[in-house]
Amino acid sequence: MIRHDQRSPRQIRPVTIEKNIAPHAQGSVLISFGNTKVICAATIEESVPRWMKEQNKTGGWITAEYSMLPYSTLTRKQRDSSRGKPDGRGTEIQRLIGRSLRAVADLEKLGPRTLWVDCDVLQADGGTRTAAITGASIAVELAARWLVQEGKTPAPAVKNRVAAVSVGVVGGEILVDLDYPEDKDACVDMNVVMTDKFDFVEVQGSGEENVFSAAQLEGMVSAARDGISQLLEIQKAALD
Ligand code: UDP
Repeated sequence: MIRHDQRSPRQIRPVTIEKNIAPHAQGSVLISFGNTKVICAATIEESVPRWMKEQNKTGGWITAEYSMLPYSTLTRKQRDSSRGKPDGRGTEIQRLIGRSLRAVADLEKLGPRTLWVDCDVLQADGGTRTAAITGASIAVELAARWLVQEGKTPAPAVKNRVAAVSVGVVGGEILVDLDYPEDKDACVDMNVVMTDKFDFVEVQGSGEENVFSAAQLEGMVSAARDGISQLLEIQKAALD
């Protein structure tokens, strides 16, 4: 099957990573997966959440927030602040981003500080959570380098890199890094998060009014690994 943008089934969209786009943050990137564009910025706060103090937990904390800018979608998306309540989808996505980043962080090395990672979608065309995770990993690494340069930590508080990609079944075929038109037609939709050692951090897969076989699951995991290896190369090039 030829995809509507001529990609092969396992080919990700063109990915770019522009660093330091938010100079007041200690680490920031603008990441694009095709027409999906997300700003990821890491800011350091010199304190830890109250629950950590209460539980006498040493080290630091990393947390993420995610939102779609009102003009990122085809029809304007109202801000949570004017809607008066947080959106469930956004809450779920920001927790996924936070877990993904903490899985590869060294919170002891971070010391008693919190790393806030803000992911704001500038343009949404499918795969905003996977772009956010892939970009946030770089923003955190830049902030970790900043902490070392400033003499605040002896070594970077990051153990590994993390990247994520979507994969789905569209018209019976397994496709990687779905854009919105493909995502809309997908009967199975999955998001896979892996480290640069190809260990899994999270796999979220669901049949959309559908079911999938063990063979399809295996095929999707293998296609996602392929996509993630392409992303890891791009991350590496952006940082070196
Ligand atoms: N989308 C939208 N408005 C919304 C939620 C989603 O326009 O409130 C579109 C957007 O293009 C997004 C896509 O639907 O990228 C797929 O959304 P999904 O919830 O699967 O998350 P994503 O693929 O962005 O991680």
